[in-house]
Amino acid sequence: MDDYRGKNGKIYKLGKKLGAGGEGTVYMLENSSGHVAKIFHESTKDADFMRRKIETMISMPIRPVIDNILRVAWPEDLLYKGSEFVGYVMPYVSAPYEIFYVYRDDSEREKIFPKYTWKYSIQYAYNLSWVVWYLHMNGIVVGDMNMKNVRISENGQVVLIDCDSFDIVNPKTREHFPCTVGLPEMLAPELQSVGSLSNGRFTKESDNFSLAIHIFRLLMKNADPFGAKLISKKKSSKSEVNANAAIINGECVYVRNVPGKAAPDWVPPFDMLPEEIRNAFRKTFNYTALTALKKAKERTTAEEWNRVLLGLAQKEPNRNLTVCSKNKKHIYPVHNTKCPWCGTATLHDARLAKGLRGLLGY
Ligand SMILES: [Zn+2]
Repeated sequence: MDDYRGKNGKIYKLGKKLGAGGEGTVYMLENSSGHVAKIFHESTKDADFMRRKIETMISMPIRPVIDNILRVAWPEDLLYKGSEFVGYVMPYVSAPYEIFYVYRDDSEREKIFPKYTWKYSIQYAYNLSWVVWYLHMNGIVVGDMNMKNVRISENGQVVLIDCDSFDIVNPKTREHFPCTVGLPEMLAPELQSVGSLSNGRFTKESDNFSLAIHIFRLLMKNADPFGAKLISKKKSSKSEVNANAAIINGECVYVRNVPGKAAPDWVPPFDMLPEEIRNAFRKTFNYTALTALKKAKERTTAEEWNRVLLGLAQKEPNRNLTVCSKNKKHIYPVHNTKCPWCGTATLHDARLAKGLRGLLGY
């Protein structure tokens, strides 16, 4: 394999190919343990744009590893072949699962987390909010916070990957390197109607929206905050057939009354959550098509999420949580007078377990 050179002349040797995506191929590095190389496909990127973006990212004070835990697969060196920029070096991410594997309420999660209790969901929510807060503190917008870009390991670790798609502004030159990709069901209302995402702009507020969707799914048994069952016989209008119309119109049945819609039966009651967590969701999801833009600034920030989750995430003995008298795996907030997990089915619809949302239902 040919040698590649880093920004300051360090020689890198590519090893085994780990995988290929739309933009590039990732290889192990033989002489730099714990690191991998991403080599861009020749056809997909404006190489000089990506060089400036990656160089900007490397110049920012982001530490991929904090408290000995990898948190973000942040670029660490540029890669050249001869004088040509071809890719970059980043940490190897050993965390094997997408975050979806902890929100899914099914036998797949059982296999990975045989001791799963709701405390796991809290821990992942807490750690995810922490890393988003850390990036926001450093002026970085994640942008495409889809489930594939949030990786987890069995021990509570949360790692953000695919950092070269983040929305970055060079702090010195103010050059903007936009995020132009995103999964519609994770996007804030202001990004739903822009057509191509290159016409919109990701912000900390749009990250706060996506973060709240992750946290809702984690804490509420994989429920989509904008999913609902239809309770009126009214014929659906065309806009309701659009799976993301609920996000555009702010139809979150947990935080406001949405005519004709209700929470699906398998979802635990929203008031199972402590009041301050319910309020954090209300600040983010209680809007309408008319107020969405105005209320974007009110969304619960990553820092606020981290703070409100701390009460539930703190170590044992945790006075904010209690255990069901019938099932030791049922752990829930202490204000509940009965176990919210005994009241909901153990496994829900297989379609949901696969993370798919029906067009009209949940
Ligand atoms: Zn129970």
